[in-house]
Amino acid sequence: MIIVMKPDATDKLISKVKERVLKDGFKIHESRGVKHTIIGVIGDKQGLDTRLYGLLEGVYRVVRVSTPYKIASRSFKKENTVIEIDDIKIGGDNIVMMAGPCTIEDQDQMNESASNLKRIGCHLLRGGAFKPRTSPYSFQGHGESGLKIIKSAGEKYGLKIITEVTEVSQIPLVSEYTDIFQIGTRNMQNFAMLSQLGKVQKPVLLKRGMSATIDDLLLSAEYILSSGNQNVILCERGIRTFEPYTRNTLDISAIPAIKSLSHLPIIVDPSHSSGRREFVSPLSRAAIAAGADGILVEVHPDPDNSVCDAEQAITFGHYTELLSECRKIAETLNRTIITD
Ligand code: PEP
Ligand code: MN
Repeated sequence: MIIVMKPDATDKLISKVKERVLKDGFKIHESRGVKHTIIGVIGDKQGLDTRLYGLLEGVYRVVRVSTPYKIASRSFKKENTVIEIDDIKIGGDNIVMMAGPCTIEDQDQMNESASNLKRIGCHLLRGGAFKPRTSPYSFQGHGESGLKIIKSAGEKYGLKIITEVTEVSQIPLVSEYTDIFQIGTRNMQNFAMLSQLGKVQKPVLLKRGMSATIDDLLLSAEYILSSGNQNVILCERGIRTFEPYTRNTLDISAIPAIKSLSHLPIIVDPSHSSGRREFVSPLSRAAIAAGADGILVEVHPDPDNSVCDAEQAITFGHYTELLSECRKIAETLNRTIITD
């Protein structure tokens, strides 16, 4: 349930309503919007007639939230969440481009990636230092030395960093190097890690689990939000279906569905969705057309020799074309793909 306060409700009235809700044994989550202050009432109290909150002074209305997630829901917050990392805005009318190799291999590879991506118009550099691999025999990432490499490339060429964290104990270390924490598909329900990431304020990009429903994804986001971090970006990266032709199936309907259910930004990863480099551009175009707030793409200086996920890696030339195609689609929707 949420309590929407009147636009002219004073701080004193807001505090009185909060006190009452806390006294009744609920937890609260407050959000100050442009017009209204919203008090999220969290908890389950059988037998308490919560409609009475509607009678309290300063209350505009009481809304029952029928979804299992509360803070992530559109009824909790009507305006789109916009996450700012210096001058980069994620969500709202902006479309953000994130790209880079699947994994950090060496300094030359990351420098070449960063310089080209900056020139083309990308703002966030990706690359994994901790790689969650299906096989224990596959390359697992360079760990901290990889983080140093990506940070140095990002700083040299003016790109922000997004990199994956795979366990709770890595959070302080990864935090020293990254601007956005990526949570991979295999960790979407690592609840201990989600709660812990709720205690930091850096943005978290939460990838949809490969077998997770949209509700599951939003409930995982709720773990982060309810622990205190409001900077959550969702990511559709393809789900497992009966179709083996592509690595996963991009759930394009998840984009408008999430837009209606939640205020959080949703971006699309066309690389892991398809697992095939020839599908990365068409899926990116489809994602922008469906309303995605950004695209996360695997790009490599020498795709065929990529240490990880070579089949889906694209060249800088390919990425340049992809970006110009996406830009045309974005313009028809009155949205902007940010560039310097
Ligand atoms: C990745 O982005 O490199 C990755 C491992 O993605 P996912 O968790 O979606 O498989
Ligand atoms: Mn990958």
